[in-house]
Amino acid sequence: MIQAKGYAAQTATTDLAPWDFERREVGPHDVQLEILYCGVCHSDLHQIKNDWFPGIFPMVPGHEIVGRVIKVGNHVKKFKLDDLAGVGCMVDSCQVCENCKDGLEQYCFEGNTQTYNNKDRQGVPTYGGYSNTIVVREEFVLHISDELPLAATAPLLCAGITTYSPLRHWKVGKGHKLAVLGLGGLGHMGVKFGVAFGAEVTVLSTSPSKEAAAKELGAHHFVVTSDPEQLKAVRGSFDFILDTVSAEHDMNMYLSLLKTNGTHICVGVPSAPYAVQPFALLGGRKSLAGSGIGGIPETQEMLDFCAEHHIVSDIEVIDIKDITASYERMLKGDVRYRFVIDMATL
Ligand code: NAP
Ligand code: ZN
Repeated sequence: MIQAKGYAAQTATTDLAPWDFERREVGPHDVQLEILYCGVCHSDLHQIKNDWFPGIFPMVPGHEIVGRVIKVGNHVKKFKLDDLAGVGCMVDSCQVCENCKDGLEQYCFEGNTQTYNNKDRQGVPTYGGYSNTIVVREEFVLHISDELPLAATAPLLCAGITTYSPLRHWKVGKGHKLAVLGLGGLGHMGVKFGVAFGAEVTVLSTSPSKEAAAKELGAHHFVVTSDPEQLKAVRGSFDFILDTVSAEHDMNMYLSLLKTNGTHICVGVPSAPYAVQPFALLGGRKSLAGSGIGGIPETQEMLDFCAEHHIVSDIEVIDIKDITASYERMLKGDVRYRFVIDMATL
């Protein structure tokens, strides 16, 4: 076994702390990375706190992983030593179902294997990127361009693909009015991609203090959702709302901001179910939709698109010992827009 070190939560009520553990040996189809940076996703916090379902502990979070290849198995074709590489939210899937064959491994009929807080196909718990190294089968490892700043590339592996994928699926672009709801890690990537695809982008935010920063990201308009007058002015005006909110919010009110035939796309995952009024949908033939991360081919496409268009996340690099304080700041919306852990501080 490979000796690894990282930061783990031992239970849902304890803070993350240093933890030594084992990774599997590098198999013939595996790639081993030295992890250099890992982004801090709100999903990490949801999961160590059992917000969604009881987790598997000890839990090493982290699914926005970038690093360097330090070992490859005999049959590995796509990677060689010293390549830059990334790993996102999944590390395996059945590879044979219709969705896997279509490059939609995130919707694998057997369920994909999540990078952490999951068990692999042998029943062994998976551990994420808040650690010094990881072993992953090559199909789930992504190529990272050396044109892009590495730390700021890490969040593309989750926040990037999770916003890129639905905007591509619904062909959001020129002529569309897109609202991005919530300007955090996912939201700021939604703004960048929406602008890059040619949409007219409005940020819907609870934080008036984010207005200037939103405009710097390229957003055309900014609406403070606690101001009834500002909300009234955009009622019935959006073709799409990309909802990245991590906490409970009033879905019916946001549905009223869509045009007739508009689509509200949920990517945020609050812990409680939505309460949706049927009339909020049928009055205007509106669609309520959802989207989960993105498949491996599309994740590579997104990374290549970002390299070509020089798109990365806006980040604040942190020491791993500051992770708990960073979660507290993330909960308050006090980060522009993603924390990324420098793994050299482990
Ligand atoms: P984040 O950085 O904390 O951003 C969430 C943003 O939501 C906040 O910055 C805030 O923006 C807004 N917000 C927070 N509480 C709110 C409330 N009560 N009402 C309205 N707005 C509120 O989180 P993130 O990392 O972007 O993740 C966002 C959500 O997406 C999480 O639930 C995460 O688990 C989920 N996620 C889903 C997928 C997927 O595959 N679908 C992938 C990754 C993450 P303002 O200050 O602008 O209001
Ligand atoms: Zn994530």
